[in-house]
Amino acid sequence: MAIDFEIPQEAKNIREKVRRWVQEECIPAEDRLKAGEPYKQVLGDLRKKARAQGLWCPFIPKEHGGMGLGPLANALVQMELGQSHLGALSMNSQGPDDATMLTLLAHGTEHQKEKFLKPLLNGEKRICYSMTEKAAGADATGMQTRAEKKGNSAYVLNGEKWFSSAATAADIALVMAKTNPDAPRHQQFSTFIVELPNPGYRIKRNIKTMAVESELSHIMGGGHAEIEIADLEVPAENLLGGEGNGFNMGQHRLAYGRLRHGMHNVAMAQRALDMATKHVTARTTFGKKLSERQGVQWMLADCASELYMARLMLLHIAYKAEKGMDLRQENSIAKVFLAHMVHKVVDTAIQLHGALGYSQDTPLASWYTHIRSQRLVDGPDEVHRWTVGRNVIKAYEKFGTTASATGGDLL
Ligand SMILES: Cc1cc2nc3c(=O)[nH]c(=O)nc-3n(C[C@H](O)[C@H](O)[C@H](O)COP(=O)(O)OP(=O)(O)OC[C@H]3O[C@@H](n4cnc5c(N)ncnc54)[C@H](O)[C@@H]3O)c2cc1C
Repeated sequence: MAIDFEIPQEAKNIREKVRRWVQEECIPAEDRLKAGEPYKQVLGDLRKKARAQGLWCPFIPKEHGGMGLGPLANALVQMELGQSHLGALSMNSQGPDDATMLTLLAHGTEHQKEKFLKPLLNGEKRICYSMTEKAAGADATGMQTRAEKKGNSAYVLNGEKWFSSAATAADIALVMAKTNPDAPRHQQFSTFIVELPNPGYRIKRNIKTMAVESELSHIMGGGHAEIEIADLEVPAENLLGGEGNGFNMGQHRLAYGRLRHGMHNVAMAQRALDMATKHVTARTTFGKKLSERQGVQWMLADCASELYMARLMLLHIAYKAEKGMDLRQENSIAKVFLAHMVHKVVDTAIQLHGALGYSQDTPLASWYTHIRSQRLVDGPDEVHRWTVGRNVIKAYEKFGTTASATGGDLL
């Protein structure tokens, strides 16, 4: 059979273990934080326990201390972890660290891996990624931050960055800067490893966003920093992946990150729908349970459809990744779909909870304000739809049908 949705037993076992981990350890630990227990204590306890069970860095190869999961098993794991904001953190699989660790693994020198990657893999340090500037975001080739060579031993960076997630929690930053303005557009930029804190990389503020924040947000990496880069001296040995390769490495990193967000969205939407269903089966209005109203059942059905489509997309992409197939079109389609999907499901869950959904007594309000960013990060909707649309036209021109750009090559 060409298409087989049977998941290998080993992957099923891992998913089951992670599901139990999230339900029995991470979600209850959220209450410890709410009760005021120190974050470091709660996360430290969780990480120790997770690691002892072999639940650590799911996507990192075993020889580097991770679980060595392939794309399918990792997708299944991430689709569980996103149910709790402590899920990914507890297994050292949180963004933006995870994708950045992969970049270091793929492009770092032995020295860089030893000095910078090892403590990240051990969960002793955090890392952030500084690409976006006020000057340029969706079109990152508009970045203005410059890196000038200082002899052969160092580079000096000047410019600005903003929306560097987790910068205030990070010990290391990957900073992109223009090294050669005369090179072809995508070869003008390089990536530098910067140790923090650093007087040349000055965090001006954590940008106030629409997201509901708690005191913990910034410690956990939920904050997004504006940064002034002034005479930031970086040793030449901290250049990552060679001069002119910054942009390609960034794209490599974003490709993984986009999928991980989507996988966490499935988990979050699933928990929101579970909460909504629990609520409507308990709540009575006008003499009837909410769950007995057809209108309410339709709302639940629409959420179920969204989740089903989301899961199928991710499984198909994981399948393509397992086979080493080109998945760029599906990645862009799914990136946009999954950001809207989670928004619709969480919005419905808020609606069905009534005023309780609007309050901060459930996590729904916080999720709702956080997930709005997903239509912007890692490429806004319009840029992905632009790419997808162009591929639709290309497919038609080549084959006389758009099917190969719409999942049609599945059949
Ligand atoms: C919560 C959050 C976290 C982030 N974390 C990081 C991080 O850790 N590191 C980092 O480097 N960056 C980060 N970013 C930045 C993010 O990657 C950028 O916001 C994103 O790339 C969009 O860039 P921009 O905000 O400059 O929008 P712009 O480039 O100014 O675009 C504005 C709008 O114009 C439209 N648009 C743009 N281009 C096109 C087009 N070709 N066709 C049609 N419409 C178009 C889109 O609607 C887009 O939203 C983060 C952003 C947010 C909101």
